[in-house]
Formats: sequence, structure tokens, C-alpha cells
Amino acid sequence: MPFPPTPTGESSSHSGKCHCGAVRFNFTLSPPLYEYPTNSCNCSICTKNGYLLVYPFNKDLTVEQGDTLKDYLFAGHKAKHQFCGRCGSSCFIRPLEEGAPSISAVNVRLLHDIDIEKLDLNKVDGKSVGPAYKV
Ligand SMILES: [Zn+2]
Repeated sequence: MPFPPTPTGESSSHSGKCHCGAVRFNFTLSPPLYEYPTNSCNCSICTKNGYLLVYPFNKDLTVEQGDTLKDYLFAGHKAKHQFCGRCGSSCFIRPLEEGAPSISAVNVRLLHDIDIEKLDLNKVDGKSVGPAYKV
């Protein structure tokens, strides 16, 4: 499976919000969510934040309300991890580098009506990539 997955003729649209509702967004995803390989990774940040990630194209992701979003950068500063500064929900990972793929990671745990059991989880062994992150 290529990364990100190759879009198919089918897509699904979703909306979500953080726990307090200050961050609101919607996006369209292809293949549709329950056919999309949702990344469940064992690296330090994914574990701590409880990320379950899909990767819509930036053009297909709209942050309708995001005034409370805060950025967290670490290690190589290749991406910013965005969370709600009011309630702490982990929301997005946005690329920072020039030439990075025009996709963003979205934590599907924030979606309305998400059925975690229906996700096609793609286990990623991020923990074994590179040196362990230590603080
Ligand atoms: Zn919030």
C-alpha cells in the first residue's frame, strides 16, 4: 500500500471537533474512511497522544474554527503537532518542510460518529525507526 493511499473513485466526508468544541473541522477522504488504512503507530508521540491517523490532502481539509490551536514541535521539526490549547485534544499534524507532501494527518478520534471498531487499522512500527526519543 503506497503512502498516502492512492485515491479511488470513492470518498467519504467527515466533520469533527476537539473535546471542548473550540476546534472544528471537516475533510474528505479517499478511499472512504472505513476502507482507508488508518495508522496506529507505536512511536512516542502517537502513543502519548492516542493518535489514530488518516491523511487527507490539504485542499480537502478545512479547519472551520481553530483559534485555540497550539503547535508542538520536537525532534527534527519536520511537522507541527496541533492540539487545542483549551482542552488539550490532539487534532492534526501539519507539514512544515518545503516540498513535503501536501497532506495533513487528522486524528480520527475527534470525528463525529466515529466507530473505532470499523476502522481498518494499519499497525505502524514507528518506535523502531531512528533513535528512541528521550526527554
Ligand atoms: Zn478544545
